[in-house]
Amino acid sequence: MQLIAEGVTQLAGFGVAAISAVREDGKMEVMAVAGSDAARLELQGRRTPVDRLTSELAKADDWGLLRFVPHERLDPDAGEDWGWVPDVAPIDDENAWHPLDMLVAPLYDDDGALHGSLAMDLPIDGRRPGQAQRAVLNQYAEQSRRAVLVALEREKLADRVRMADAARRIVRTATAQLSLDRIVADSREALVEGFRAAGMWLQTFDRDGHGGARGELYSSDGSHVHLTPELIEIAEGAAHRAWEQQQVVVVAPDRAFSAALSAEQGALVLAFLREIGVESLLFTPLGAGPECLGNLVLTRTAGAPEWTEAEATTALDIGHDLGRAILNARIFEREHQLVEELQQLDTYKGQLLATVAHELKNPLTSVMGHLEMLESSPDLTGTTRSSLNAMDRGARRMVRVIEDLLLLSKVGDPDDPMIAAPVDLARIVDDVVDLITVPAEQKQLEITVELPAGPVFALGDHDELDRVAANLVSNAVKYTPASGTVRIVVDRTGDDVVLTVADEGIGISQDDLLRLGTEFFRSSNPEAVAQPGTGLGLAIVRRIVDRHGGRLEIQSDLGRGSTFQVWLPAASA
Ligand code: ADP
Repeated sequence: MQLIAEGVTQLAGFGVAAISAVREDGKMEVMAVAGSDAARLELQGRRTPVDRLTSELAKADDWGLLRFVPHERLDPDAGEDWGWVPDVAPIDDENAWHPLDMLVAPLYDDDGALHGSLAMDLPIDGRRPGQAQRAVLNQYAEQSRRAVLVALEREKLADRVRMADAARRIVRTATAQLSLDRIVADSREALVEGFRAAGMWLQTFDRDGHGGARGELYSSDGSHVHLTPELIEIAEGAAHRAWEQQQVVVVAPDRAFSAALSAEQGALVLAFLREIGVESLLFTPLGAGPECLGNLVLTRTAGAPEWTEAEATTALDIGHDLGRAILNARIFEREHQLVEELQQLDTYKGQLLATVAHELKNPLTSVMGHLEMLESSPDLTGTTRSSLNAMDRGARRMVRVIEDLLLLSKVGDPDDPMIAAPVDLARIVDDVVDLITVPAEQKQLEITVELPAGPVFALGDHDELDRVAANLVSNAVKYTPASGTVRIVVDRTGDDVVLTVADEGIGISQDDLLRLGTEFFRSSNPEAVAQPGTGLGLAIVRRIVDRHGGRLEIQSDLGRGSTFQVWLPAASA
């Protein structure tokens, strides 16, 4: 374009030539100027409304591709910003060029749409051009026409490529994030760069569809954007309307406000923009489905290009992508909050149980002491004695439950960590089996124990591991009908020590297996319910195994038997 303009000045005999292109906002922007430095300085980048040109063209003489408007016909009110008035006096000739004469070639595409102009001024010979000169100028006009169309097309294409790239980057980063802060932090750069914006801010609405104090505003440089309550309200309303209409809103001086913004609101926004040194903004509603979830504002300072159609379309697409990401983040945050609430509830439940158990323990110890005293008195009748025995059995059972509750609370308390040392699991199993011999014999159970020669050291707390073995073995004995078998194995596998307790007892259904190990859970199987129990034993086992960094594996077939396996880290000593 510059070369064409220079051709006009150097070969077609004009002092100044300027090529302009029509922009999307309805303004002509001067793209190339040839001539004096003063002319270039004054004209380059100048923007004037297209209709100024078209109204002048109506009065023009038709010179092929060129249009000539003699100064007598020019609009005297056109003002300073229109054209260029060189400071020269016309020569004394009937064809003299007047400083206010206008010679311009409007540049149309094949469909007749106006895309630019080639304007020239200051003929070197001081005369309005004759036929020969017009023919040359016509050639330059045709060249300019092609150049402007190609340049605009290329700009549009580059714009689309840039926007597609920005959109891709945003979709990739934003949708991978589950926190709102991260979504904004990660898409900020792509947004500002992709849209060639000076800054951005983002406001999200809460579930009632409001932002402001409850919503959050992010600016591109990390600083907080202070919006007055009035502006927040305008933004909220505009976002909802814009989302409904699936439109973005451009706020810029000299630009008509969209339907999402009243003239009064637009003026307020413009005043605010002036205050913060911003010239224009692209306002995009964010949402998912019918719900508007916030808005994204991209800003440009003075001198930056106008927001293009491609940018508006991409921004709206991004409004959908960010909207979905915000919705996901919101759901995730809600779930996170729920999990936290449940954890708090669980902690509270644990504390409540521990406190109740504590409070019951002392009076129960006193009850048992008195029962013992009474039971030892010599002059008791048979009925009294059997009542006392029943009370004693009941009290002992209560003590066991209370002790289990206290142990459950202790082994689940992160503030009461276990102190690990090498513990011989084979030895523990020996001790546990000794204690179980009597009840096992009563049920004529066959108990087989397979231990390697020598100790098998696990890393852990002796009493707690003793409790694990005791609970599993006593359950196997309890839930295996008479004459069944129970097999206990201690083994070393790689870096682990494994305790296996397998029985051929009543088994556990697959549904019950899923809940096994939660406090107070007992199988629904009537054969299991018929046995005395609290449903605390396996919960204790699970917690102890967990805090040892081990794992509990249970396999069971209802009516056929169960295998419990505890994997624990081995100790070398
Ligand atoms: P409790 O035996 O006191 O009820 P546990 O926590 O030790 O409590 O066990 C929970 C439930 O798991 C038991 O009520 C029982 O239904 C089932 N269970 C545990 N061990 C076995 C087993 N070896 N065979 C069949 N069912 C078992």
